[in-house]
Amino acid sequence: MATRRIAVLPGDGIGPEVTGEAVKVLKTVARQAGVALEFEDALVGGCAVDATGEPLPAKSLDLCRKADAIMFGSVGGPKWDGLPQEQKPERGLLALRKELDLYANLRPAKTFPMLIDSSPLKRSVVEGTDLMVIRELTGGLYFGEPRGIEKFADGGARAINTMAYTSREIERIARVGFDVARKRKKKLASVDKANVLIVSQLWRDVVNRVAQDYPDVTLEHILVDNCSMELVARPTRFDTIVAENTFGDILSDEAAILVGSLGMLPSASLGGAVALYEPVHGTAPDIAGKGIANPIAAILSAGMLLKYSLDLGTHADRVDAAVLRVLEQGYRTRDIGASGAKVVGTGEMGDLVVKELEASA
Ligand code: NAD
Repeated sequence: MATRRIAVLPGDGIGPEVTGEAVKVLKTVARQAGVALEFEDALVGGCAVDATGEPLPAKSLDLCRKADAIMFGSVGGPKWDGLPQEQKPERGLLALRKELDLYANLRPAKTFPMLIDSSPLKRSVVEGTDLMVIRELTGGLYFGEPRGIEKFADGGARAINTMAYTSREIERIARVGFDVARKRKKKLASVDKANVLIVSQLWRDVVNRVAQDYPDVTLEHILVDNCSMELVARPTRFDTIVAENTFGDILSDEAAILVGSLGMLPSASLGGAVALYEPVHGTAPDIAGKGIANPIAAILSAGMLLKYSLDLGTHADRVDAAVLRVLEQGYRTRDIGASGAKVVGTGEMGDLVVKELEASA
């Protein structure tokens, strides 16, 4: 098999610490699966600003374009907070999404049985939650024109953002929704506000049209306000959720909190020729450099990379299972540690997952 190239963009803060563990896991799986993987690092975020003056240097973008997949850490931190907007580390990630046309963001939220008590919700509500939120990432309210602010002579003002979607943009994210649902429990909830918004009416029409190509997937339309309530009242009723950018932004964070710690949440951004995988959390400046960050979100993101970019779904399942077994044995990083837990550091947690992968080969 041809060598597959992985661009590694560790970024700032705990980014490099957790990404290093994800790469360890990818190397182990590659060896076991007989796949040749080549890793190349590039700068992004604050460290790229320090070295080159730009959050996404052309060299990094070029490496990403040529790669089969991107393993991303996280970007930002107090050191760069005062920079002008276009130099902020976060621009590096936004530019990458835009340049690579990564219009679909996938965020699984699955409860781990042994961590249920770190959820803010009752065990009886969250137990068994296993859902995927798919958020449209490049359209809608965050990008729509016109936008701006108009100042009035009397001191008042009027601000405008526009929620706009073309049928093409809706169709392509709907297809991602159906394709993902098809690989899960074949249940898709499409979120909109069709009782009020014209954009949502088009969204619903297009989703219905696309549904005809997926007769094996059960489609439900749900209003965003109802979806938000149901997510905390009955999260287990959902399997795959697809939503436009703003609704998806809010709902994916709401779903995230169901499972407890930020250190456990992976994500994938798909769409263009190359996909990007990253933990949901940020750079955690409060714990950066201490070797105590939880690498599981990054490791599970590596699992998504195996599944969606390298078509190694069985090995992705092995990664998930290895993480579960390490947790079952009582090992925890500090953020998810409870009394009686065997608290380990970032590198040790990565090593434990690798050990489990080797034991299951
Ligand atoms: P954060 O996710 O970095 O941290 C929030 C809290 O969760 C902190 O207490 C942190 O210690 C903890 N935490 C996060 N990840 C953890 C892990 N893997 N293990 C253990 N604990 C973990 O969010 P924040 O504090 O709001 O942001 C810090 C910086 O990160 C900011 O500059 C922000 O802009 C940036 N950020 C970047 C991304 C990204 O690159 N995608 C996402 C969110 C925030």
